[in-house]
Amino acid sequence: MIIAITGTNAAGKDEAAQYLESKGFAHFSLSDELREIARERGKDPTREYLVSLGNELRRLYGKPYLTERVLNKAKGNPHIVISSVRNPGELEPVASTEGFKLVVLDAPAEIRYQRARARGRIGEEVTFEKFIRMDAEEMSGAESEQNLHRLIATADVRIVNDGTLEELHRKLDAVVGSIRRRERASWDEYFMNIAKQVATRSTCDRKFCGAVIVRDRVILSTGYNGSISGAPHCDEVGHMMENGHCMRTIHAEMNAVAQAAKNGVNIHGSTIYITASPCWTCFKLLCNAGIKRICYSEFYRDERIIEAAEQVGVELVDLSRFVGGDGEA
Ligand SMILES: [Zn+2]
Ligand SMILES: [Zn+2]
Repeated sequence: MIIAITGTNAAGKDEAAQYLESKGFAHFSLSDELREIARERGKDPTREYLVSLGNELRRLYGKPYLTERVLNKAKGNPHIVISSVRNPGELEPVASTEGFKLVVLDAPAEIRYQRARARGRIGEEVTFEKFIRMDAEEMSGAESEQNLHRLIATADVRIVNDGTLEELHRKLDAVVGSIRRRERASWDEYFMNIAKQVATRSTCDRKFCGAVIVRDRVILSTGYNGSISGAPHCDEVGHMMENGHCMRTIHAEMNAVAQAAKNGVNIHGSTIYITASPCWTCFKLLCNAGIKRICYSEFYRDERIIEAAEQVGVELVDLSRFVGGDGEA
């Protein structure tokens, strides 16, 4: 998960970054990178020098230079917060990454002015009118220079930080929660799509089913509807009907468990993705094989599994909303 933070002057960007840091994010400030480069060059990191250094680096090495430097340092950190982003081009290396969000902080100008004064960031001599003018200057600039208003326009989330610190923290928690849900949903979508692919190998056309068993995002086993290995298939010799069911096939989820058993793969605590919810017999088998989460893309007949799953602490997840390809969770 990568969160980039930007926003107007004294809108609470540092507080937001610090809060995320306290929640386990590795924090990198693009301004700190600039200061570090200034020091390496033996220069005083004055505001003027830093602005011109930033422009120079973007011209010489491309807009994403500082971000790439930060990503190099952050290697191995699953959660990163990048602050002091000033230019849309700086986000090119991360903008299309899964689990990325650009968060813009803002607050009414009067509140920001009071905060900046209280923290001594601007002196007594800066009037409210001057503060507003400084804002406007910061907002625009040549393409490779600071260009906050274009950056703000591309934000995924806008937080109005006009309340207490606790309120800001709650708003940030909501952002992190939504990325987490989305990340989870996209993994579910990914494995369910694989289960659908597995289903195309089914040999009983009464129902094409596929199953994929996964733990820690690793596929442990797969299965599809088919006969006993080596025996003829329904699509060769016809179905073996009994009470409206075809008895020739072993169900996809059973085959996935059998494949794991055959190969000595431990599936305890895993998730199974099945294109259709399990029948009662398969459900019992999955529970006792230690599967903790059952995801299905279509509910199939047996409603007894709903109550039973709750009783035994197995999570049933309806992923039918992914059918048709719109995977928004
Ligand atoms: Zn059949
Ligand atoms: Zn079954």
